Amino acid sequence: MKKVTWNDVLTFNRGLKTEDRDLLVKREWKATHRIPNADGRSYFHIDCPFCKTRNTVYVWSFAGQGKRCEVCGAMFSWFGEAYQFKSNNKRKDLQ
Ligand SMILES: [Zn+2]
Repeated sequence: MKKVTWNDVLTFNRGLKTEDRDLLVKREWKATHRIPNADGRSYFHIDCPFCKTRNTVYVWSFAGQGKRCEVCGAMFSWFGEAYQFKSNNKRKDLQ
């Protein structure tokens, strides 16, 4: 399955269509269960707004490069937005 890249997200946010004219869908995610850790490896969970999978996200990693859903490949941004291709979002097994 095609996975969302930052380039796709930037293109989408400029109001342009992606290469193959497959527009993204944007939804909000909410972090749950933030777990602070003494060694700086704090993590939290993002429940994917597309496929409902609970993703574990390390803060140090997420701040630099964002995070993809482990199951459907949706991209989570630092600002609480999640992006998925419209065509992936139509798949019944991801809803
Ligand atoms: Zn997902």
